[in-house]
Amino acid sequence: MITTKGYAAQSAETDLAPWNFERREVGPHDVQFEILFCGVCHSDLHQIKNDWFPGIFPMVPGHEIVGRVVKVGDHVKNFKVGDLAGTGCMVDSCQVCENCKQDLEQYCLEGNTQTYNSMERDGSSPTYGGYSNTIVVREEFVLHVSDKLDLAAVAPLLCAGITTYSPLRHWKVGKGHKLAVLGLGGLGHMAVKFGVSFGAEVTVLSTSPAKEEDAKKLGAHHFVVTKDAEQIKAATGTFDFILDTVSAAHDFNMYLSLLKTNGTMICVGAPSTPAEISAFSLLGGRKSVAGSGIGGIKETQEMLDYCAENNIVSEIELIDIKDVHAAYERMEKGDVRYRFVIDMATL
Ligand code: NAP
Ligand code: ZN
Repeated sequence: MITTKGYAAQSAETDLAPWNFERREVGPHDVQFEILFCGVCHSDLHQIKNDWFPGIFPMVPGHEIVGRVVKVGDHVKNFKVGDLAGTGCMVDSCQVCENCKQDLEQYCLEGNTQTYNSMERDGSSPTYGGYSNTIVVREEFVLHVSDKLDLAAVAPLLCAGITTYSPLRHWKVGKGHKLAVLGLGGLGHMAVKFGVSFGAEVTVLSTSPAKEEDAKKLGAHHFVVTKDAEQIKAATGTFDFILDTVSAAHDFNMYLSLLKTNGTMICVGAPSTPAEISAFSLLGGRKSVAGSGIGGIKETQEMLDYCAENNIVSEIELIDIKDVHAAYERMEKGDVRYRFVIDMATL
């Protein structure tokens, strides 16, 4: 076994604190890498607080993981010691179902194995995430990371990046489309970057007027303060797509009114409580509400390669691991600019 240093929550009521645990030895198809940076996703906060479902504790969060390969199994073909590597929200899946065969492992019909707060395929070994110094992952779920980009700023691409890239590609959002990005946080700011890069006219819908200047710097063409009734009125019926990244309960009916006829609201944010949607919000303009979860491994690699070619990374605040609680508090208040990334050398 590999003795690993990490930060764990022992229960939903306790804060994260140093915790040592064991990872499996590197098997023939495994890659072990030293973790250099790990992004802080709002999903980490949802999960350590049991927001979605009772979690598996102790819990080591973190699924925006980048680092350098230190060991590979005998049968590993695509990685060697010294390579940069990354892992996102999944570390395994059944690999044989209809969805896995179509590179949609995130929708594995048996359920994918999440990077933490999940069980390995054996059904009994908990997985532990990236707030730790090293990780062992089967080769198929390890991504190649370019050395052209700032590695710390690449980490958030593994979740925030792919979660916004995948739906924009699936719905073919680009030139000629008016895209609204709802919520300018970790996911939202990546959605702005991709939306602009794909040629869409991008509007940020935000509760935080102070983020307007940043939104424009990220490339957004317009900024709407959603608490301002006049601005909402002016935006009514104007968007082809809304990419909803909001982490807390919000008024879907109000946002649906901003869509054009045939418009689609794509939910990637995952509030813990269900939304109330009036049928009239949809039938009036043949509108759709859709959802999207992270992305498959092939598409994640495609996204990372696209980012390397187009010089796209996350806007980050690099933090020491001891400051993770302060980061959570700021994230909860919507005060994130625009992703906290933990420097794992501080572990
Ligand atoms: P984040 O950095 O905290 O950003 C969320 C943003 O939503 C905030 O910055 C804020 O932006 C806005 N917001 C927060 N509360 C709001 C409210 N009550 N009403 C309206 N807007 C509000 O979070 P994140 O890491 O981007 O994650 C966002 C959500 O996506 C989380 O629920 C997370 O679990 C989920 N997620 C889903 C997937 C997936 O596969 N679908 C993957 C990763 C994460 P403004 O200040 O601009 O209003
Ligand atoms: Zn995430």
